[in-house]
Amino acid sequence: MGRIEVLDQHTIDKIAAGEVIERPSSVVKELAENAIDAGASSVTVEIKEGGISFIRITDNGSGIEKDQVPTAFLRHSTSKIRAVEDLMTIHSLGFRGEALSSIAAVAQVELVTKTHAEGTGIRYLIEGGKEVSLEEVGAPDGTTFLVRNLFYNTPARKKFLKAAMTEAGYINDLLIKLALSHPDISFKFINNGQVKLHTSGNTNLKDIIYGVYGREIASELIAVEAGDAGVQIRGFIGKPVISRGNRNYENYYINGRYIKSQIISKAIEDAYKTFMMQHKYPFAVLHFTIEGDLLDVNVHPTKMELRFSNQEEIYQLIVRTLKDALSGRELIPEVTLDL
Ligand code: ADP
Ligand code: MG
Repeated sequence: MGRIEVLDQHTIDKIAAGEVIERPSSVVKELAENAIDAGASSVTVEIKEGGISFIRITDNGSGIEKDQVPTAFLRHSTSKIRAVEDLMTIHSLGFRGEALSSIAAVAQVELVTKTHAEGTGIRYLIEGGKEVSLEEVGAPDGTTFLVRNLFYNTPARKKFLKAAMTEAGYINDLLIKLALSHPDISFKFINNGQVKLHTSGNTNLKDIIYGVYGREIASELIAVEAGDAGVQIRGFIGKPVISRGNRNYENYYINGRYIKSQIISKAIEDAYKTFMMQHKYPFAVLHFTIEGDLLDVNVHPTKMELRFSNQEEIYQLIVRTLKDALSGRELIPEVTLDL
């Protein structure tokens, strides 16, 4: 065994990046979520070669102040929380301050950003975690990240990526989820110059579902709205006739966050059991509002899996609400559901 030494910061960042950034869709997820947190009303994602060689994300959000730009790329730097207690009441998607440092550790990144209050913006280049340049530029309000050559300096990880088409498909799926989770934000996805997705951001969830999935699905929806102490459910579920062959169409969001939860998936599927054939899965777009103190969001770095303190109640509420909706017992008139 050699001498024991603390790793240098670049090596630490490169290793840590692996936890957050697994593939191009992880980059898109982190940067699009940052755009949402920045209050953007429009987010455009352009990729080439499945995002491996080129990802550009443009938002019209708050921008980053000039003198804050290098700090934003430091590990564990965030403007979203100050202390652990803040997690209880957090409304942002991010809070760990790991994304920008992780992306910059394993790619060539160009950031152009300008706040409304500042007259000019900043162009910042950083590659493999090392700052290349920082200069003042004219720029519109908001932020553009250009991420090139992902994993150029970690060839072992690059080898694990799939074909460009598959990686692009992951990004498309992710952006559908984000668009459905934020009906108030217009999302545009351009793959190799072709527009693949474009939602209006007009706040009407049914319109967004139509924009994403088309008429066949949008015309077979049942509106759902229910709640009890601490938990609200709103959204649309599909009539059994539009049940699908896989779980990809079970969309649900907690406090605007795209997550996976075995308990919620199970509740949705259990509610449909008597209405649907076996090996079929429901279509659903459900937004849950759950009070912060019933949640633990700090479970996993990618924040996909969430824990609740009142699992059983949430399960029961979902099953009851969806069963009522499906059996027409509580037919909600064709309300437009502005979320
Ligand atoms: P986190 O989102 O967990 O705070 P990130 O590493 O993703 O950490 O981002 C670091 C900080 O950079 C954010 O807290 C935010 O202040 C700023 N930031 C990143 N992206 C944007 C953006 N698109 N618009 C405005 N600010 C941004
Ligand atoms: Mg973030």
